[in-house]
Amino acid sequence: MKCPLIPINILSFYKDKTGAPIPLPARMAKCTPDTHRAITSLEKSLAEKGGELILSDLFRSYAMQDKAFCDHLSNSRRPYSPPPGESFHEAGRAFDIDINAIKIPLIEFWRMAANVGVVPIIKQPKAHLSEAWHFECRGSHQLLYNYFASRGGGRFGSAYREAVSSAILSIGVNVDSFNDQLVEATIQSSLIRLGKDIGNLDGEIGPRSKAGLEELGLNYDVAGKKQILGAVERLLERKFPGEYAVVASVA
Ligand SMILES: [Zn+2]
Repeated sequence: MKCPLIPINILSFYKDKTGAPIPLPARMAKCTPDTHRAITSLEKSLAEKGGELILSDLFRSYAMQDKAFCDHLSNSRRPYSPPPGESFHEAGRAFDIDINAIKIPLIEFWRMAANVGVVPIIKQPKAHLSEAWHFECRGSHQLLYNYFASRGGGRFGSAYREAVSSAILSIGVNVDSFNDQLVEATIQSSLIRLGKDIGNLDGEIGPRSKAGLEELGLNYDVAGKKQILGAVERLLERKFPGEYAVVASVA
């Protein structure tokens, strides 16, 4: 199956007409199951310290990401937002927080976040820096980052962009750079997450991708590509159950 996006009920910095805070609007309030667990856990940990996890952004569709990008281009005072295909927000794996509401030093929140697999995007815990509010739950897509970081960055010279592509593909959404080869690209990113060395993530199933599939007992030239995708997705579900399990297991 695809990595599901599930709804989340979380406070937002948006307000109703009376000025009272409202939950994050439904179009943004969805994320992957592992991100859901991480956000819920951070909300609870912050509450224990007298703070609040208040979000200004979470999921963005292609259209929403495109609008954020265009808004930034037309108004340089708006924070930088990349074009569609380059943000973990589009995979339901990034969220922006109200830093003033956490009521603990940012460095302390970073530690709290690290404990639940959440990382910042800036290098130093300084609240005044742009994007200090942005956090990501990269899950197994970190493996693509590691893979391409060790290979000089992939097609676009950015290991980060490859990891984002993988995360977006995993929810069944295409990324423009693969043209209409969504299925092929998703098979490739799945192979890398399954530990195979296939070269570039480019939507072209070449000899190395086919060899990786063969190691998994799958023959690309015999089975249909959709059948192959189903098979690798089942393997991913087994390897990374927390990214697919909608109901959190009770410890
Ligand atoms: Zn963000």
